[in-house]
Amino acid sequence: MSRSAHPAGPRHADVLPEGHYSAPPADLNTLDHKVWAQTVGRDADGVVTVGGVDVKQLAEEFGTPAYILDEADFRARARAWRTAFGPDADVFYAGKAFLSRAVVRWLDEEGLNLDVCSGGELATALSAGMPAERIAFHGNNKSTEEIRRAVEAGVGRIVLDSFQEIVRVAHTAQSLGTRQKVQIRITVGVEAHTHEFIATAHEDQKFGIPLAGGQAAEAVRRALQLDGLELIGIHSHIGSQIFDMSGFEVAAHRVVGLLKDVRDEHGVELPEIDLGGGLGIAYTSDDDPREPHEIAKALTEIVTRECEAARLRTPRISVEPGRAIVGPTAFTLYEVGTVKPLDGLRTYVSVDGGMSDNIRTALYDAEYSVALVSRTSTAEPMLARVVGKHCESGDIVVKDAFLPADLAPGDLVAVPATGAYCRSMASNYNHVLRPPVVAVRDGEARVIVRRETEEDLLRLDVG
Ligand SMILES: *Cc1c(COP(=O)(O)O)cnc(C)c1O
Repeated sequence: MSRSAHPAGPRHADVLPEGHYSAPPADLNTLDHKVWAQTVGRDADGVVTVGGVDVKQLAEEFGTPAYILDEADFRARARAWRTAFGPDADVFYAGKAFLSRAVVRWLDEEGLNLDVCSGGELATALSAGMPAERIAFHGNNKSTEEIRRAVEAGVGRIVLDSFQEIVRVAHTAQSLGTRQKVQIRITVGVEAHTHEFIATAHEDQKFGIPLAGGQAAEAVRRALQLDGLELIGIHSHIGSQIFDMSGFEVAAHRVVGLLKDVRDEHGVELPEIDLGGGLGIAYTSDDDPREPHEIAKALTEIVTRECEAARLRTPRISVEPGRAIVGPTAFTLYEVGTVKPLDGLRTYVSVDGGMSDNIRTALYDAEYSVALVSRTSTAEPMLARVVGKHCESGDIVVKDAFLPADLAPGDLVAVPATGAYCRSMASNYNHVLRPPVVAVRDGEARVIVRRETEEDLLRLDVG
């Protein structure tokens, strides 16, 4: 089971039976706001609009495929997390879900902090003006060069992931004449997916230092001894697309247990605990995610209770939502190219993108929904599979979907909830050009990441 765990998404196949799909909705024209960005609706002609701009206009101006991001929705979700956790906690947006300079500025303005996990993400954050002290640097194999750049920039924390890294960061900080704030990422033997979690003694995965066998305690011992490091806390990230808080409960219990051991052994109360991200969103109408204020309340209560029991001062909590902020704010706009009914099976609808702009279906068996957005239809629902244009039969965007039976080439369809881990995981497979990200707000649309061009591709190919 742990082999299928991945920070960017669940293996829905683990929890859903093969061939699972919901019954067709009563009205295919209805847009469920659980999965669509807040400002999405239909105008009087039945054309879908977002941020006051209609999708036909967007397709004409920016082409397809394109990721269309609702800026007001992004800001509202970021603010909801910020407000829910209040001034005594920190919210770090996980940049790997989707990062661009515009996003960094929105986060800065809304008072969020930012997680990065590579030199490229760090460069993006700094170039958009995110104050370095609000940046956390993650990753299980940061290069010495990345570590040096992060320390030099003055990032607020580096999350240490191995014994080698404890030494590397300490050495770098010392050679630069500074003391780096760090957290130690531990694995607490909890793995959460969607509606269930598994508590195990050992975690068979690459991230973090196991609590089991006293390894995490040893990591703390070493970090406390090194002059280049200021150990500010313990970090734990238990999984992704989580709906059930019980995994966090076990994780918090175990992290606080370590804090208590640290206090007993070293007389030090570490001031912070980071519970990671992984909070789920609705990809289809069947999913029921929790609101940020419920999550904040639950996590704060769990940590407070555990600390009271251990007679520890409650540490400052931080969380790292990525998907839960950006995921629901964007949809991918595609044009239908071919419609191929296979008798007795289903209809294959080919769109002008595919696994290069959304790898999650192929990679994790992720579920998505889809809607006809350039018009409404009163035709019967047909069972469809939305596929891309790549030379791969696994190039599926939406595995099981109902679309109106009169769907035709030239129609625009959109797949909602593609804000997270789609553009950020996009590839150039088949030398397909990566789509732009277009932000819409108050009747205006602007490109925040432009479409790749053939020139871009050829520039890398030096012959
Ligand atoms: C991926 C990741 C996150 C964000 O996960 P989401 O599922 O997008 O919320 C947060 N923290 C760490 C350490 C991660 O690796």
